[in-house]
Amino acid sequence: MEYRFLGLTGMKVSCLSFGASSLGSVFREVTLDDCIATVHAALDGGMNFIDVSPAYGGTLAELRLGRALEGVRRDRYFLATKIGSYSEARKDYDYSKASTERSIEHSMKRLGVDYVDLLQCHDVEFADHDQIVNETLPTLLELKKQGVIRHIGITGLPLKMFRSILDRAGADVVETILSFCHYELNDTSLADLLPYLKGKNVGVINASPTGMGLLTNRGTPVWHPASNSIKEGCLKAAQHCRAKGVDIVKLAVQFSCANPDIATTLVGSANPQNIRENIACVDAPIDRQLLADVLEILKPIHNYNFTRGLPAHRDPLLA
Ligand code: NAD
Repeated sequence: MEYRFLGLTGMKVSCLSFGASSLGSVFREVTLDDCIATVHAALDGGMNFIDVSPAYGGTLAELRLGRALEGVRRDRYFLATKIGSYSEARKDYDYSKASTERSIEHSMKRLGVDYVDLLQCHDVEFADHDQIVNETLPTLLELKKQGVIRHIGITGLPLKMFRSILDRAGADVVETILSFCHYELNDTSLADLLPYLKGKNVGVINASPTGMGLLTNRGTPVWHPASNSIKEGCLKAAQHCRAKGVDIVKLAVQFSCANPDIATTLVGSANPQNIRENIACVDAPIDRQLLADVLEILKPIHNYNFTRGLPAHRDPLLA
């Protein structure tokens, strides 16, 4: 496993790390035993960065992650959680000072820790950016001063809105961004933003190398926002890999981890065997011919992806 610095945070993180949303049963029902075994498979395999949110499974992911981390030495992992988004289905967003302070206190109780390494404003495409800059980030700076959190980040889907916050926040206030579904086999649009982020010393976390299930043999859960043409294109690519005896997840993980300007890619699963396989493939050589075939199959839908959020923050959809 390769380790890379996450911007200027000083955290040297595994290039493939663990996204804990699956522990909240967001893709399928999972048991606490599955969750505990998966988190241990991740840590034992060399993943040292874990991302979660109170929004995943309505706090269930944090609760189960907390159980899984019981007895694990605190210096074995960096822990990231979030504030602001509590339920996409109920449109429950609150980035205020009071809610932020309450949320991190509750998250730490569920997680069984007395600090988090990174606290991120979750899905800022649903936020008023004036509030993020003038209220939420100052609250996070205060929490940082108190030692409750070590670093500050923002997350979200549309790419253009990262500049909207980073250009207005004070220098070095926002230390990381988490982007998802924009650096994977069918969409590499995050690449265009990387030079800007590097110029601002912002560490880059890339989430969802399988596009939240698009690039898997199981396919997507019912809530998945991709259009049928995206799903069909990805299915064709998965079938091609299967015909060549390869699970497309392997290629997807290798592809996302190969970019040295992305500090880490978060992959999720509540199946320990999946996590072991994902870790093993990071160090395995990539099949260049298969990669070329798959990129060709995905060409008609390349960078054509879904967007969301308040109208002002959405990315234009590229055909
Ligand atoms: P993902 O692309 O990691 O896909 C997860 C799906 O792939 C699950 O269904 C899982 O079972 C399956 N999978 C993983 N490895 C597999 C394997 N080896 N074989 C077969 N199937 C496999 O998407 P994700 O879980 O949504 O994203 C990863 C993490 O990134 C999340 O858990 C979360 O921590 C983070 N994330 C954050 C945001 C945000 O902040 N807005 C958004 C998306 C994701």
